[in-house]
Amino acid sequence: MMQIVHGRTGWIEVICGPMFSGKSEELIKRTRRAQIARRRVQIFKHGIDARYDATDIVSHSQQKMPGIALTRVEDIIDLVDDRTELVAIDEGQFFDGHLVEVANKLANLGKRVIIAGLDLDYRGLPFGPMPQLICSSEYVTKQLAICMTCGDPANFTQRLTGAKDQIVVGASETYEARCRRHFEPPAAGEEG
Ligand code: ADP
Repeated sequence: MMQIVHGRTGWIEVICGPMFSGKSEELIKRTRRAQIARRRVQIFKHGIDARYDATDIVSHSQQKMPGIALTRVEDIIDLVDDRTELVAIDEGQFFDGHLVEVANKLANLGKRVIIAGLDLDYRGLPFGPMPQLICSSEYVTKQLAICMTCGDPANFTQRLTGAKDQIVVGASETYEARCRRHFEPPAAGEEG
């Protein structure tokens, strides 16, 4: 039998790009506008240690909104209220592949899902679930930062230390934005 869907449809919006490209600012902006319009919103981000924790989603420009930090993305399904209309998730690249299922499930329930995350890691390679997520999403916004060397548009995140793990948490002391001419990926064989 043909399924006829009544009521509102959900969708997925992805905001991607390198560090300092304004992904968190954009996530906060979209979420705040929805809140002003009295939409019910819930915000999550990846938390390195705690299972769930009240936390702020903070941009490098110090804009913030209260949210919940968690490590198992599947827990979002239990934490989202039926009445919630917008689910925002920051640091999407740190979650495992279940992020894609969770985002689709929430969108299929009629919610607007906004996910911000790095599309490339410090080696310039696709980061975690982001490529799959981009394929599943209705809207993709690719943001760029400004190259710290020349001022051109920057698509890459340059790691300034020799650490080899894919995940090394840090801000401007550890990373900077670079264009493709000035991005220096780790030498072959050295990457983690
Ligand atoms: P992201 O979530 O993409 O890491 P944020 O939204 O946290 O980005 O921060 C964006 C802010 O970072 C900018 O508004 C600016 O204040 C700051 N910033 C620092 N370095 C740069 C850079 N190289 N290019 C652009 N913005 C930068």
